Amino acid sequence: MPDIRLKAILLICALGVISLFTWLISSANTALLIFSIGLLLYLISHIIWLHKLHLWFKNPELTAVPEGSGLWEDVFTALLQYERNNQRNQTQLNSALERFSLATSAMPDGLVILGVSNEIEWCTPNAESQLGLNLSTDKNLPIVNLIRESHFIAYLYNGDYDEPFKLKSWRNTEIVLEIQLIPFANNQKLLICRDMTQLEKVEVMRRDFIANVSHELRTPLTVVGGFLETLSDMEGAVPESLKTYFAMMEEQTIRMRRIIEDLLTLSTIESNISEPDDSEIDMHSLLKSVQNDAIGLSQGLNKIKHQIHLEADATLNLNGAQEELRSAFSNLVSNAIRYTPNGGEIFISWTLQGEQPVFSVRDTGIGIEQKHIERLTERFYRVDRSRSRETGGTGLGLSIVKHILIRHQAKLEISSEIGVGSTFSAVFPKARVVRKSVPN
Ligand code: ADP
Repeated sequence: MPDIRLKAILLICALGVISLFTWLISSANTALLIFSIGLLLYLISHIIWLHKLHLWFKNPELTAVPEGSGLWEDVFTALLQYERNNQRNQTQLNSALERFSLATSAMPDGLVILGVSNEIEWCTPNAESQLGLNLSTDKNLPIVNLIRESHFIAYLYNGDYDEPFKLKSWRNTEIVLEIQLIPFANNQKLLICRDMTQLEKVEVMRRDFIANVSHELRTPLTVVGGFLETLSDMEGAVPESLKTYFAMMEEQTIRMRRIIEDLLTLSTIESNISEPDDSEIDMHSLLKSVQNDAIGLSQGLNKIKHQIHLEADATLNLNGAQEELRSAFSNLVSNAIRYTPNGGEIFISWTLQGEQPVFSVRDTGIGIEQKHIERLTERFYRVDRSRSRETGGTGLGLSIVKHILIRHQAKLEISSEIGVGSTFSAVFPKARVVRKSVPN
């Protein structure tokens, strides 16, 4: 404020000039007295204005800003201007916040903002009703104190928020919620919660329909298959000219039975919302038996058609459902055999990558074009229909694998190059690792 400084200097200079003039016409003592009295009055006036400023700060009302005089007039005018701007900004901020709050309340999804220690900082009314929270009493409480569901706690601490997470409301088991966490800023999280009850009902109806149809078809097909087999086995029952048709009928019946079995397996896994039975699996012996089955599958008329290698970390075990995982691993290995021409190699491995245990199957087979990779786990998606059919495929294998892995919080990663081969890897969370000591 250069003008304020200038005013103060001018005032003191004027006092100095008056004192000098007094000295000239009177005496030095009188001049000094006038100068001192002037300075004292000047100081007292500042103290009075400072006191008024202090009083105003105690109750900073816009209408109560003192008017001031002299130097202080400028100070109080600037203060008034500052306070006006401040109030205008505050009003704008409040109305923006109000509009934001109205917009978030109108959203069908619930929103919760979590702080660095996962404490509730703020949430919308929808989140309050969906998650049973009460912002006024639950603010600053850790969310795990209020949502005690073990899957939710695991999802929160796992740190992998790519996929949303389904949660059955513990207050009303009819309600299914989908929860997605989105990290932002410095270790804060936005929790989005969506009511999926209606969609889930439709999904359950779809699953039940497929399961019922498959179930209904299984019995008649078993009967047809049985009769075809009996007729084929009976000497002279099938005329020579019809034998090829009979063989085709038998082959197609077996194929349909395989599809129905896979559909039933898939719907059982999909509808099984209970946790997989978590017991320690001796991975080395499980994979040895998967390798032996693979050798059997690769067996031609008189020789094994593929070289099948196994490299498994004998100190690394896994917590999970053994039969489900055997089925997933066998599916991946049998695909590798079916899509690898004779003479090719299959490498099965079980290792720790970083902290995560990984089961992977690499083959030197036909490979898959990049554009197909992300759709491979869809039901009945095949790159080459005829090859899948010729090798006894149902188009459901990778769907089954995906669902088994989801149940174990694992991910399926696929990389492939046409003519070079493919690698299918099941990446498990580190929480499933069991380290065992190997006797020397
Ligand atoms: P299918 O019974 O047809 O093999 P899957 O669900 O197991 O069905 O696999 C889906 C498709 O993925 C297959 O039809 C095939 O085109 C492709 N596929 C799976 N594994 C491999 C592999 N190891 N090499 C090349 N293609 C593969």
